[in-house]
This record gives sequence, structure tokens and C-alpha cells, in this order.
Amino acid sequence: MTAVALGLPRVRPTGAPSTLGRPDTEALVDRYGRVAHDLRVSVTEKCSLRCTYCMPAEGLPAIPREDLLTPAEIGRLVGIGYRAGIRDVRFTGGEPLMRPDLAEIVRRTRAAAPGVRISMTTNAIGLDKRVDELVDAGLDRVNVSLDSIDRRHFAELTRRDRLPQVLAGIQGALGAGLSPVKLNAVLMPETLAGAADLLAWAVEHGCRLRFIEQMPLDADQNWDRDQLVSAERLLDVLGARFDLTPVGREDPSAPAEEWAVDGGPATVGIIASVTRSFCGDCDRTRLTAEGTVRSCLFGNEEVDLRALLRTEGHDDAATDAAIVAAWQGAMWAKPFAHGLDRGAPDTGAIGGPADDPEAFARTERSMGAIGG
Ligand code: SF4
Repeated sequence: MTAVALGLPRVRPTGAPSTLGRPDTEALVDRYGRVAHDLRVSVTEKCSLRCTYCMPAEGLPAIPREDLLTPAEIGRLVGIGYRAGIRDVRFTGGEPLMRPDLAEIVRRTRAAAPGVRISMTTNAIGLDKRVDELVDAGLDRVNVSLDSIDRRHFAELTRRDRLPQVLAGIQGALGAGLSPVKLNAVLMPETLAGAADLLAWAVEHGCRLRFIEQMPLDADQNWDRDQLVSAERLLDVLGARFDLTPVGREDPSAPAEEWAVDGGPATVGIIASVTRSFCGDCDRTRLTAEGTVRSCLFGNEEVDLRALLRTEGHDDAATDAAIVAAWQGAMWAKPFAHGLDRGAPDTGAIGGPADDPEAFARTERSMGAIGG
């Protein structure tokens, strides 16, 4: 496994996390009583863009093909997660469309977990050409990353002049009946000026736009709390052009707070990860492309499930029970918020002291190596 220049995450030997005090339940519960229902699966570190708030200009070091989970392994893990209560599976990356076998991954996921909602976070480049095979395989919905509809500005932010392909991908998703098509825009000083235009475009095209407060997950580690554009600031800017009425969250664990735009039905969402943390209701668990469990986006403790999967066919082959036990152990140890535990010693948290709700653990992987 190769890691970005940020160093290697501490991968614990399989099944080592303490489960002291854990209730006897199949569910992926943590010490704060939160239960995971939403599984995010990163399937690659590769991407067709180089967004400045995510990837280094040269991209992330390649993960050797043999270290990536195969479609069969992803199917098996999703099946195990499904029996432990997972009801949403979201494929992320890097960029999932960079996997030529993505339709096979979706097909095996649908077969292993018939009742789950399958979605994907994508930059939509090339989606118009592959959406039919992905929908046939079982894809239900997409979140498309789009920070600007100004072509020059888009090229600056992503270091690639590919806005027309992104818009074609969004049209492809709408045309294939994927609904709702959600748009994710990272809120930064650079994108604030274009936020109202982006919202107008989303409303006009029937997409649901959500702005995300920028988190310290950039590979170049340039995140600066003082540069943060807060949800409040954005509401001021949008409120100058639109009539916004708060309508709350879709459900308590949904990261986005929603506002009706000009009386609705269109809405706009804000994922205020920094200034309005929603960790207390977090129901997410993550698998990296290499098959380790990350209990939290900012948690640096990872548990290796791939090693267990690859004992298949050996005398000591790991059973599904052994794999779910390792996964349960990883989730039981989940930190409270932003990768930090309440009252944890000040281990060099970013953005404030460790017990500050707006502080973050310094993660050893960047967003491109975790997935949203
Ligand atoms: S930072 Fe961690 S605990 Fe908080 S919402 Fe994200 S994944 Fe959940």
C-alpha cells in the first residue's frame, strides 16, 4: 500500500481494537451509542481532476492494482455490512468512474445487499457514456462535485478545463432518471462570489445543490480556520438574491441543513461540518480502496479487513463472523467528533484545542485517499 506524502495511517493488526463494554449486538455501534447505517466505499485514489482543496497537482501516489479491493471483495464486505445494518452504500474515490470495473462493483453490491440505496460521489466526467450500464447494475443516485459553472473559474479550481464534460455527465444522469441529482460545492473564499449563480443554475436544471464548509483534508495541508467561509456568511450572500426559508434536515443524521429557495420546491443545503458540527448524530462508516475500515473521516486508526478477506481458501480462512467482529471493533473505538475524543489530550488538533467542537484531528490521509 502506498500512502500520500502525509505518511502512513496506523493500521492496527486485524481485530485488535478493544471492545470492552460493547453491547452484544450485530450493529456497528460506537461508544457514544451511534449506529452506522451509511457505508462510504472509496474504490480508487485516481481522479480526472486536480481540485486544489483535495489533490496535489501531481495526483496521489498510485495504489498497486493488487492492493485494491476487487469487485468480489467489495460485494462480500457490503453483504457483511448489510447484515450488520448498513442501508446506504456510497461509492467515492478519488473518482469512482476511473474504475473500469465500476459496473461490476455496483452489480455485486446490489446482489449482496438487495435493499440498500446505492449512490456515488463523482465529478461526472464520462458519466453520460456509462450511466445506462451503472443504472442497469443497480445505481440509484449520484452526488456530483461542482464548485462553479464559470468555465475559467472551474479550470482554475480543478487544474483542468473540463466543465463541459461535467455538465454533459449531469445531463446524462438527469436523462437516465437518477433522482435527485445532488450537487456538492466546496465553500471557499474562491467560490463564494459565484455561489448565487451556481444556485440559480441548479434550480433551473432541477438539481439539489449543497454547499460544504471546507474541512482540513487537503493534501497540501493549507487549510486555515481563519480563511473559512461559514454557513452564516453564505446565507448572507445567497439571501441577497434568493428568499431562503429554513426547512431543517432530511433526517437527524443527514449532514445537510436545507432551505427552501423562493418558496420552494427547490431547496439549497449547507453541510456546516466546521461551524455546526453534526458528529453527534453521525451514522457513517468507511472502507478505503485498500480494504481498511475508517470509523471517522478524521480518524487515523484503521483496521485491515482485506487481510482477513484474503485468507479465503486457506485452512484458517476468516469467516464473515470474524470480519464483522473486526469491523465492530473498529466502530466501537470511533472518536466522538472530527477524529477527536471528548477530553482527549491536545494531540496537535487543527483549528483549536482538542475539546473545541470546531477542532479537527490532523488526518494522515487526504480527502482523495478517503473519499467523501
Ligand atoms: S467528522 Fe467523523 S464523526 Fe464527524 S460527521 Fe464526519 S465521520 Fe462522522
